[in-house]
Amino acid sequence: MRFVPRFTDGQAFPHALGKIVCVGRNYADHARELDNPVPSEPLLFIKPATSAVPLGGTLDVPFSRGEVHYEAELALLIGETLTHATADEAESAIVGIGLALDLTLRDVQARLKEKGHPWEVAKGFDGACPLSHFLPLGRIPNWNALSFELHIDGELRQRGEGADMLFPVPTLVAEMSRHFTLEPGDVVLTGTPAGVGQLSRGAQLRLTLTGGLEVSARVVE
Ligand code: ZN
Repeated sequence: MRFVPRFTDGQAFPHALGKIVCVGRNYADHARELDNPVPSEPLLFIKPATSAVPLGGTLDVPFSRGEVHYEAELALLIGETLTHATADEAESAIVGIGLALDLTLRDVQARLKEKGHPWEVAKGFDGACPLSHFLPLGRIPNWNALSFELHIDGELRQRGEGADMLFPVPTLVAEMSRHFTLEPGDVVLTGTPAGVGQLSRGAQLRLTLTGGLEVSARVVE
């Protein structure tokens, strides 16, 4: 069954989820913690719609495949078709903001990176993209003022601020649309700040976003 994005009032978005377009290294502090160079253009990749699962309740994690890392990210729900869009067009096509985990099989990814191979399987597996409900956007928010946090077992692990993104939301979405046409129901993940780490069994996650979104999940296997 296809995943349908939902708003925080429970309403279903009229299109099923499409692709999830993601950016690596959109926060300088996270690029540094993984010893990656800070990019001059966004490093883009796609997670398939089949990787999405609802974020909340229990979180199924494939521990049999080595270390699984959490990456908390701001998620954007796209409501219009965008091809070679301007930053203004990109910005006004965003109809909701939410939170996501870009789950990553870090051991698998490290092996693939070492060989210079694509690391799709480390990022696109079933369940690799837990997605929250979306706060509906009546008007364009102040992206710089947005912030989100991830707490694990009561401890602050990640805090992302819109103002710290290397590629701000409108520029990032416009750039994505130069490579991939974005369609209603597609979701954009905007990268993760410093503080990524390994998930462990039984961990209790709480994610919050300015504007009133809060979601909790417990890691199971
Ligand atoms: Zn990520």
